[in-house]
Amino acid sequence: MKKNNFKKFWKLGVKEFNTTPFEINGDGELVVREGNYQYNIYDLVRKFDASIKVYMPFVVEQRLSHLIETFNDTIKQAKYKGKYTYHFPMKVNQNKEFVLPLVAEGAHLEATSANELWVVKKMWEGENFHSKIRILCNGPKTPQYIKLIQHLEDKNLTITPIIETMDEAELLKDFKGERGVRLNMTLKVSSHWDKKIDRFGLSEEEILSLGKMRNLRVLHYHIGSQVLVDNDIIAALREAFKTYVKLRAINPTLDTIDIGGGFAVPYEKKKLYSMEPLVKRIITTLRDLSDRAGVPHPDIITEWGQYIVAPSQFTVLKIVGSKNIPKGVAQKWYMVDGSFMTDLLDTWAIHQKWHVIPVNHMDAKKKERVWLAGLTCDSDDKYADADGHVLLPRLEDVAQGEDMYIAVLDTGAYQDAFAMHHCLISSPAKIVLQNGLVTVARKRESPEEIGKLFGW
Ligand SMILES: *Cc1c(COP(=O)(O)O)cnc(C)c1O
Repeated sequence: MKKNNFKKFWKLGVKEFNTTPFEINGDGELVVREGNYQYNIYDLVRKFDASIKVYMPFVVEQRLSHLIETFNDTIKQAKYKGKYTYHFPMKVNQNKEFVLPLVAEGAHLEATSANELWVVKKMWEGENFHSKIRILCNGPKTPQYIKLIQHLEDKNLTITPIIETMDEAELLKDFKGERGVRLNMTLKVSSHWDKKIDRFGLSEEEILSLGKMRNLRVLHYHIGSQVLVDNDIIAALREAFKTYVKLRAINPTLDTIDIGGGFAVPYEKKKLYSMEPLVKRIITTLRDLSDRAGVPHPDIITEWGQYIVAPSQFTVLKIVGSKNIPKGVAQKWYMVDGSFMTDLLDTWAIHQKWHVIPVNHMDAKKKERVWLAGLTCDSDDKYADADGHVLLPRLEDVAQGEDMYIAVLDTGAYQDAFAMHHCLISSPAKIVLQNGLVTVARKRESPEEIGKLFGW
């Protein structure tokens, strides 16, 4: 097989799979390209030892600038009168190395808790922000959260609490800044998170019963994460627009629709919808609905979180042992020196499927069907893809004194904050690739650091 065929086999260099930065070099090793810079991941992992998380800030920068450009260009072409702004939902990845480059590229933020807002306060005080940045505040408004919202409003940060319950409407009655309200729609979508009844937001009846609200600017909704069908995103927009028109009749200050998150990531490298045509449908749908209803074109906010950050990080694991499987759809267990349960927690929580590729021996002709097992003693600490196994090179083909490494792609969303300490497993180091330089943002957790969390 030629080099290009291996690249195709591992689904690298494909735009709709978000694998364009990945290449295979002449020695069958994984390399990452950033413009004319190149990083050899096999060298990297031998230097820093696995397991490591490798973060590529240039990927989030490119993804966000392309998204904003697409919205702005489409708005111009469609003669749409409203503006677009992107808000990064901080819960998807609160690491400084993720948030700061996004803000630099023009992202506004969405916080979901008092502690995330505390991070915002730190950035505001550190003058990391342009003074025009806007912060949306979702999540239950505890007294501590409300106090911080009020504090930042007093410090002239544009902060928009989103009212999600009738109690919050009352609690925020005297708040002088602008506000939003979250709509809970009954619409059903194709997503893992779609529940018959969810607790977020208010029904249309409840929202309208609130009457006139001081400085109401934003109608927000979030139909779920990883929405697998683009038609559902448009259907939700149409549904929410009906409420928008009724609410605007009572509150003429209302000028923005915030469609939340949900843009799906092709984790399994099967084709989903693409961004550009969906943006076009969003703009033209809103334009036509507004024109028909005789209201000005609303400003649009999206909070697509994992769409922007998931492909910017991958996790590299070392294979530390193997074991035969007597009878099963796979031939061998490969044990890794990391854990799916502690550091890729969605594997366990929602049976998340990943794209797993080798880091060396990518050009191996013979492969084996394996199950992957993590370091914890938990029988749930394992991984197989949708076909019931993972296809990887054979360990017996790895030369003496050499190790085999694998990469789990698209681990930049949610996993860092979900990480836990079952069996006191250390979280991997975080390595950053930028401008041709390799830096260590976070060292691998030491036994002392973990012990401390448990009072030792
Ligand atoms: C979780 C969440 C998001 C981000 O969802 P993604 O699936 O990552 O796009 C955006 N907005 C709100 C309100 C959320 O709760």
